[in-house]
Amino acid sequence: MADNLFYSRRKYIKYFVFFLALAVSVPASVRADETDPYAKERKAMLEEQIKGRGIKDARVFSAMDKVKRHLFVPEGLRRLAYADSPLPIGFEQTISQPYIVAYMTEAARLKKDDRVLEIGTGSGYQAAILAEIVDEVYTIEIIKELADSAEKRLKDLGYSNVCVKCGDGYLGWEEHAPFDAIIVTAAPPEIPEGLVKQLDMGGRMVVPIGSFFQELYLIEKTASGIKKERLLPVRFVPMVHPEEDE
Ligand code: SAH
Repeated sequence: MADNLFYSRRKYIKYFVFFLALAVSVPASVRADETDPYAKERKAMLEEQIKGRGIKDARVFSAMDKVKRHLFVPEGLRRLAYADSPLPIGFEQTISQPYIVAYMTEAARLKKDDRVLEIGTGSGYQAAILAEIVDEVYTIEIIKELADSAEKRLKDLGYSNVCVKCGDGYLGWEEHAPFDAIIVTAAPPEIPEGLVKQLDMGGRMVVPIGSFFQELYLIEKTASGIKKERLLPVRFVPMVHPEEDE
């Protein structure tokens, strides 16, 4: 009898220790989930869509690992933030597919002290990725509501090296030109010469060209002239002129 009692006490102690361990460990993991509930999805995106498809630039990986893409999509779509596709962000615009963001960023061959211009701020996601890699980012968005919300989002997330402007991207941003790189995330029908002018010598522009059928181009300003290289077929929203944006 005494033995049994001892035995069952030991059993209770074992249970007690087990539940204590559970109580200590569960809140810790819940806390981790609260700050980064999509960490697993983001890792999977990096492995499958980014590394798995041949992106090699380690700075692009770490930027895409660090920036929480789910904070750049509408709340109702957060579960899909790391899916292999573009997503709507309102005003008939989209945040680009993660692979395309990585591809364009890598193609621009960025250096830390580069000054980069983005055309088409949208959600601000591409601007945040750029801001993780280079010192200075300028980004222009033609739709006022998107420019305002992206500016607030980037500020709230602590990106003090991004300047957002609402305006016509075809005009570039003369006061801050020349740029080491320009990333255009809406498709003009042909190469925007005004933007080529704002590239520094040795500068690179990554831009989708076309209307229904589009190709991504890498344009480089070299001492011997403008070099154009066709990279891959893509599908972006059109880069509009202000009068069309009604
Ligand atoms: N880079 C964005 C996605 C861009 S979607 C992101 O990471 O979320 C393309 C954006 O280009 C749209 O928001 C659209 O309003 C904007 N756009 C279209 N024409 C433009 C122009 N002429 N100047 C500036 N922005 C333009």
